[in-house]
Amino acid sequence: MPDAEAAVDLVVDVAPDTPANAPLRRLSSEMLSMARNAAVAAEAPSALNPAESRERSAPAADLDWDPLTQTIKTCRNCSLCEQRTHAVPGIGDHQADWLIVGESPGAEEDAQGEPFVGKAGKLLDAMLSAIGLARGENVYLTNAVKCRPPMSRPLDASELAACFPYLARQIALIKPRLIVAFGRPAAQALLNTDIRIASARGQCFDYHGIPVVVTYPPAYLLRNPLDKAKAWEDLCFARRQMRDRSSGHGDT
Ligand code: URA
Repeated sequence: MPDAEAAVDLVVDVAPDTPANAPLRRLSSEMLSMARNAAVAAEAPSALNPAESRERSAPAADLDWDPLTQTIKTCRNCSLCEQRTHAVPGIGDHQADWLIVGESPGAEEDAQGEPFVGKAGKLLDAMLSAIGLARGENVYLTNAVKCRPPMSRPLDASELAACFPYLARQIALIKPRLIVAFGRPAAQALLNTDIRIASARGQCFDYHGIPVVVTYPPAYLLRNPLDKAKAWEDLCFARRQMRDRSSGHGDT
C-alpha cells in the first residue's frame, strides 16, 4: 500500500494537473484504488464467516450506549434516513435477560422515536405480561432496522445489512440470555439466513451462543388473530428455554 501511494505521489509530482496529463493521473488513482481494495481484502475476515465479517465492518463496533444511540439517531447509512421522522434505537433494560427484536418501526414508532408504541405495542405488552415480563424490566425492545420504511413497505436485504451492526452492538452490550425474533426479517438479520416463521417455530437457533426463538410479530397477529395461540406457544417455549438453561438443562 505505501508503495502504491508513493507511486501515485510520484505521478502527481511529475505530471501536474493539466488536461494533457488527466489520463495518466486517472490511471494512477485507479491503481491506488485497486491497491487499497486488495489491502482491505487481505485484512478482511474470512468470507467463510459472514456473521463475523458483518460485525467487524460495523460502524458501531466499539461504541458504548450513549454514542451508539446518537449514531443510530443520526445514521445516514441507507436511504431509509431520508423519510424518517425519528430513528428508533430501542428501549429498556440495558442488562436485560430478554431481548425482543422486531422488524422495523411503524408510523407511530417513527413519530415518537420509541419501538412498539402503537397497537402492536399494546399487544406486545400483553404478550410480555402473559409470560411474567413487563416493558423495561429485564427486557430490551428493539428492531432489526431502526428507521421506518416508507409506507411501511417490506425491507430489502441491503437495509437489513446496513443496520445490522447496530443490532450486533446492542446485543454485545446487553448480553441477553435469550433473544425473541419477531418475524422473518428479524430472524433473517440475526441468523443471516432466510427462514420461514411457520417452519422455524419451536426450534432454538443460535446467535453467538445466545438462544434465538422466532415467532410471529404483534402487527401480524393483529391482522391474523387466529395465530395468537401459536405466538403464545412460542413465548412459552422461549420461557422454558430460559428456565432450562438457568437450571442447566439446555436442549438446543
Ligand atoms: N412492529 C415492529 O416490528 N417494530 C415496532 O417497533 C413496531 C411494530
